[in-house]
Amino acid sequence: MNKVDLKNLTQEQLIAYVQELGLPVFRGRQIFSWLYRPGINDFSQMTDLNKELRATLADKAEISQLPVAKQEKSKDGTIKFAFRLNDNEIIESVLIPEEDRNTLCISCQVGCAMGCDFCLTGTMGLTRNLTPAEIVNQVCAVIKEMPEEMCHGDKKNSCINNLVFMGMGEPLANLDNLLTALDILMDQRGLDFSGRKITVSTCGIVPKMKELGEKTAVNLAVSLHSVNDEVRSQLMPINRKYPVEQLIQACRDFPMPKRRMIMFEYIMIKGLNDSDADARELAHKLRDIKCKINLLPYNECPGTDYQCPSRERTEAFQQILRKADYTVFIRSSRGSDISAACGQLAVKANSEKGEERGA
Ligand code: SF4
Repeated sequence: MNKVDLKNLTQEQLIAYVQELGLPVFRGRQIFSWLYRPGINDFSQMTDLNKELRATLADKAEISQLPVAKQEKSKDGTIKFAFRLNDNEIIESVLIPEEDRNTLCISCQVGCAMGCDFCLTGTMGLTRNLTPAEIVNQVCAVIKEMPEEMCHGDKKNSCINNLVFMGMGEPLANLDNLLTALDILMDQRGLDFSGRKITVSTCGIVPKMKELGEKTAVNLAVSLHSVNDEVRSQLMPINRKYPVEQLIQACRDFPMPKRRMIMFEYIMIKGLNDSDADARELAHKLRDIKCKINLLPYNECPGTDYQCPSRERTEAFQQILRKADYTVFIRSSRGSDISAACGQLAVKANSEKGEERGA
């Protein structure tokens, strides 16, 4: 009989599960809060459960973890974690430390079916969706690995200040499991993250955007990269299904919590989407959306001909948007020397699947 992985369950689902075992509601709450305490990986550690109950749980259920297959540190401090899944697939998460906060970029699929032309993960194709436990366990594993001096605050999740779903995979293509994982991440008895500190990024699966906004209160980031349908369809095949106007309308309609803004991500590619006219068109199309814009100079990588524009070109693009009253940041690339930067996550299956934990 397959054991139930309790880390796949929200608190509510766990309560229903223990009730099926003939136990009272408070036991479900008790067990749920044990699961997300650092270092808990065995029912025998749950000291306020009686011996008989611990034995029953050990018989019927399990507490999964993600073993670190490899850890690489960039010269800028960024750390890339490769995790081995039960079926021997590998996924990656990237920890980006800054002076006063740490951001963890997590994956939601093994590979990705979206095939964006500038992204190495897209070249892998989709192998499978991650389970809620596999999503949440990336966070648990990184918390466990982080040295105390990197933590800011004393909450159990304090070593990670922001969570971004911008790793491998398209989050909205795995929406059900993502929503369960978000429930666990935001539960006070779970990992207790505020929705303000979590950002889910999408390439633009329009019908799922509304569902995300209606069912949870996280931040939305949209990988836009062009407002010209021809250019965007070249970069992102999803644009053929949901073209720019539909995507922008979905952003207007997104049920956003008060005082939040949509973050538009815009990879700057030399000669393709970086002209003054492109900047003006972008400013025009987004004019009625509460938003910020991140400009991401392209990370050149093998297998694509795209190039990064000059700093001057990127700044000129930024200036046009600023004059149109947008908040615009130019994001510097982090972790590119260890292939941890945006669009660079792609597991070299043959080389990494056989490897044990590295540096
Ligand atoms: Fe998938 Fe995101 Fe890469 Fe596009 S950019 S292929 S959605 S991982």
